[in-house]
Amino acid sequence: MESSGRSGLSHAEPLLFERSVPGRHGHSLPRSFGDTPQAGADIPAALLRSAPPELPEVDEPSVVRHFTRLSTWNHGLDLGFYPLGSCTMKYNPRVNERVARLDGFARLHPYAPEEHAQGALGLMYELARLLAEISGFARVTLQPAAGAHGELTGMKMVRAYHVSRGRPRSKVLVPDTAHGTNPASSTLAGYDVVEVHSGPDGILEPAAVAAAMDEDVAALMMTNPNTLGLFEQHVGEIARILHERGGLLYCDGANLNSLMGIARPGDMGVDVMQFNLHKTFATPHGGGGPGSGPVGVCAALEPFLPVPVVEKVGERYTLASDRPRSIGRMKGFYGNFAVMLRAYAYVRELGAEGLKRSTEMAVLNANYVRAGLEGTYHLPYPRRSLHEVIFSDHDLEATGVTTMDVAKRLIDHGFHPPTVYFPLVVHGAIMIEPTESESVQTLDEFIAAMQAIAAEARTAPEQVKGAPHRTILGRLDEVRAARQPVLRWRASQSSPHAPEAKSAEPRRTC
Ligand SMILES: *Cc1c(COP(=O)(O)O)cnc(C)c1O
Repeated sequence: MESSGRSGLSHAEPLLFERSVPGRHGHSLPRSFGDTPQAGADIPAALLRSAPPELPEVDEPSVVRHFTRLSTWNHGLDLGFYPLGSCTMKYNPRVNERVARLDGFARLHPYAPEEHAQGALGLMYELARLLAEISGFARVTLQPAAGAHGELTGMKMVRAYHVSRGRPRSKVLVPDTAHGTNPASSTLAGYDVVEVHSGPDGILEPAAVAAAMDEDVAALMMTNPNTLGLFEQHVGEIARILHERGGLLYCDGANLNSLMGIARPGDMGVDVMQFNLHKTFATPHGGGGPGSGPVGVCAALEPFLPVPVVEKVGERYTLASDRPRSIGRMKGFYGNFAVMLRAYAYVRELGAEGLKRSTEMAVLNANYVRAGLEGTYHLPYPRRSLHEVIFSDHDLEATGVTTMDVAKRLIDHGFHPPTVYFPLVVHGAIMIEPTESESVQTLDEFIAAMQAIAAEARTAPEQVKGAPHRTILGRLDEVRAARQPVLRWRASQSSPHAPEAKSAEPRRTC
């Protein structure tokens, strides 16, 4: 098969337990280590093992090769294009990693006294100040661990604000285009969620907000640009409708990478917003972490910020906890500091002009993909978008090929699939976010692969439906994997010399 992307070597990879040979080992510890009669003398007998643990007995090269090979099974950004919509998987410049590994930062103990942590505190203070300037807010907390945690922090401040004015209110308005974390955060903060329908062009209409607005509404949570990649152009008007009746406007800032350097949510009337540092400011977040979800607030919400806040007193940085109206602490210590370091390096490296250019390139790249695939795949919202673009499988219906099949076939072409079946308002959504990191050559290769798949769907649909063909494992039974996960290996499951463990054939699960 012709591949416009890349494909890799596939090794059969048994478990280390299956490679185990009794007596083989890959360490050379001094004999006395853990082997003396006194070892464990201070530990109560009931807590001591009676038999050694069932660990694989393997040599060092086997272990190194095993994990090195496994590491290539996961498609990461350093391996290829990763156009996961809504996730902003941008390249993480190596200089960020250098900064995050600097001894003075990496080895600093979180309990180090303030006078020994001036550099770290100063960096946090500066980063918060830079984020406030980029977004147009009065103040920023860096404490939350990720985007959703930032949303919860923001909504708790909204609640504290309303309580301080006599009544928490009971409802939060959430548009139907929202990310799933928005209703979840509102609910966790003690609110009932009221869904507001977006208009036919995917944009939230002021009239729909006005109709749902009353004095029980604490806030509206809006993502801007929304999850369709479209700019909510009525944001100013919607803020006014909310403010007139005492409500607040929350902006989910996960998509800030299409605004930064060009427009500021704080200037649009937004009262509170979380940043996703691990999206907008590099540090792609494969495997569930780490993240960082700072929250920016307008002046009226400042007293409710989580403690401690970093203050600058004269030339000294200090942690202030004496803030009686604070919602309290949201995270142990000060948040995910290493992600802050990378974000700081990213902002300082690009500078004001570079951030703006990055936004322009992110928007240009998404629209380049849109233009390249328009006519090949159905475009539910056929207009220019911002940083991401959404197609659907509508035009492939007659072939029987679905969004999931297209996504799986892309793997054979060497690309990570885009986000699929989200947002929910688009049936069979294929959501592509190239980010500013990618060159026009990569985008051309991706477009060619998507076109090849659409053509194949018409001539050989079974090829697409059976994909991926070039990976070690085929299509997984995702339902079974979720319902009956096998999380633990037992020696009794198979012996290292069982015939199936010796087989060099890659094992397929379908
Ligand atoms: C990613 C994302 C979130 C959640 O952020 P996490 O860091 O994954 O918790 C919320 N809203 C939108 C629009 C997102 O894209």
